[in-house]
Amino acid sequence: MPRSLIALCLMTAFLQLGCSDAPTEVEAEQTPETQQQPGQVDQQSETAHLLRPIESKDKAHDLTNSSTLEKNTTTPERSFTAMSQEAQLVTLKSGQTVSSLLSKQGFSAQQIANLAIALRKVVPLNKLQAGSILAIDEVAGQRQVSLAGEYAIRVDAVQQGDDWQVTKTKVPTRIEVAEHAIVINHSLYGDGAAAGIPGDVINSALLALSHFIDFQRQVYSGNRFEVVFERTLVIEDEALFAHQQTPLQPTYLRFRNSEDDLRLYRYNDAFYLEDGRLAESFLLKTPLNGARLSSHYGQRKHPLLGYTRMHKGIDFSAPAGTPIMAAGNATVKRADWYSTYGNAVVLQHDDGYETLYAHLKGFASDIKPGVKVKQGQVIGFLGNTGLSQARHLHYEVYKNGKSVNPLNLKKLTTERLAGQELAQFIAFVEGLEDRTMRLAQFASGDSAIYLPPLTAEAR
Ligand SMILES: [Zn+2]
Repeated sequence: MPRSLIALCLMTAFLQLGCSDAPTEVEAEQTPETQQQPGQVDQQSETAHLLRPIESKDKAHDLTNSSTLEKNTTTPERSFTAMSQEAQLVTLKSGQTVSSLLSKQGFSAQQIANLAIALRKVVPLNKLQAGSILAIDEVAGQRQVSLAGEYAIRVDAVQQGDDWQVTKTKVPTRIEVAEHAIVINHSLYGDGAAAGIPGDVINSALLALSHFIDFQRQVYSGNRFEVVFERTLVIEDEALFAHQQTPLQPTYLRFRNSEDDLRLYRYNDAFYLEDGRLAESFLLKTPLNGARLSSHYGQRKHPLLGYTRMHKGIDFSAPAGTPIMAAGNATVKRADWYSTYGNAVVLQHDDGYETLYAHLKGFASDIKPGVKVKQGQVIGFLGNTGLSQARHLHYEVYKNGKSVNPLNLKKLTTERLAGQELAQFIAFVEGLEDRTMRLAQFASGDSAIYLPPLTAEAR
């Protein structure tokens, strides 16, 4: 019997939080362009790390002691046929169009135009990135073009005269589970990356933990960080997906310092505390990805005006055009030119809170007064408008009209699991106990990767 496919949540942009443990510069609005951004972890070293064979530095890590994290191999809901070995793989080169690539393969301009139309809702050909892989084959006298849709979704287009028949197929996958523990020397990001934890995983962890921990002030040498994460790997048609980033998903996070021992569990696409409380704050502290805190809240000398005045917000440095997210569920109060703030968005949240996002390059479409937005929704793009010396986001939070320091917000949402859902969550947490207890024994820098055995169904 085919087992139902385990839904896997892809890494989404909102998980890629910026490194908020970067060094702070209270006076600097102007920011060096060369600053290492957290998203810039060497791809090669990440890949090298993840391609290591199954290993365990500690003999006590028992591979048979699997927990519920180790979901077994998923199988497609309908029968899967791998691409033929005869299929010719071609890679889209930088500066090359899909049309020129396909015309080299002998397709006519009309066939290519029709293919683009047939695929426009599945994989828009004009948006394919350099490095994308196409497989060209002939099946029962018909030519076929295959390419990767989302990860583990193969899209086949079979030629029928000048037209194309498009089908999507789920490619069988398996889950790989990785565990890491580090003791922090300098920063969670730097030490984590040095220990081989992928950048996306660290960013997700920073985002989740920033609701509780102030990474500018509360992280000291000796603090301990533990993470369990999963990745999904295709076990067929690997070549077609070779250029795609494998979705990575942290499932368990622990952060321990002298005051706190935080454990966060990912359940139904969100992080929860052990008791079932949703582990998210009411307002995001960092409403953009890949950013560096470049100026703190408080008194400072204004770089343009020259005199000392109160800096009523915090500044984040990031590339121009970086999407800016709503810090919480809100109604848009304004989205227009706002004096020295330049292009600015003001959001009205519950309980008398307002947030302001200044110096934007532009606004996301549909962001107009009266529109409701959700936490994490893109509202605009980082820029350098108004009284601003260098591109940055200036972010302010108000409570009942009074400015407050965004980094001091510790107000958690009141949401929590209840009833049957809570019971299931507690069972889930208990199911992880062997794993989390074992991870707690890891020395700093220890890691282990597990590939649960494939079931007969997958093969
Ligand atoms: Zn500012």
